[in-house]
Amino acid sequence: MSRFIDLIVIHCAASPDGHLLGNARETAAQVIDRWHAERGFHRAHPSINPELTAIGYHYVIDCDGTVLTGRGEEEIGAHVEGHNANSLGICMVGTRCFTAAQWLALHDLAARLQDNYRNATLHGHREYANKECPGFDVADWVTGGCVPLCGHLFPESV
Ligand SMILES: [Zn+2]
Repeated sequence: MSRFIDLIVIHCAASPDGHLLGNARETAAQVIDRWHAERGFHRAHPSINPELTAIGYHYVIDCDGTVLTGRGEEEIGAHVEGHNANSLGICMVGTRCFTAAQWLALHDLAARLQDNYRNATLHGHREYANKECPGFDVADWVTGGCVPLCGHLFPESV
């Protein structure tokens, strides 16, 4: 049974901009899973990735543009108080500035999800909570055509 989804909520990991969260031992999703376990999150009925026992997000986008899955889409997340039942959560690694690869991955993932969930609109966590999550205005990004947002592109050296 698929859930009714009308919100896609974007978050940031509040980690250093431009720094991969994943490493040789853990993926970014596994790192966030540890953080969420420490905060007491728990997945009641994992539909995918059963080794992740806590992660509240459905997707994580690391700085190299890798998209990792957390909870299954049919599984209610734990990422936006009061709106979890009808939403999907995407977490961008970093805080305010994201790599070109991350922006492209977010664009593609959002487009694919909106294809599958025709009623779904894109939002930032900070629209629902008094937080600076993510570190950019999602409405500005959508209005601009979902291209990297001015002032929020991580400057990469070649
Ligand atoms: Zn958030």
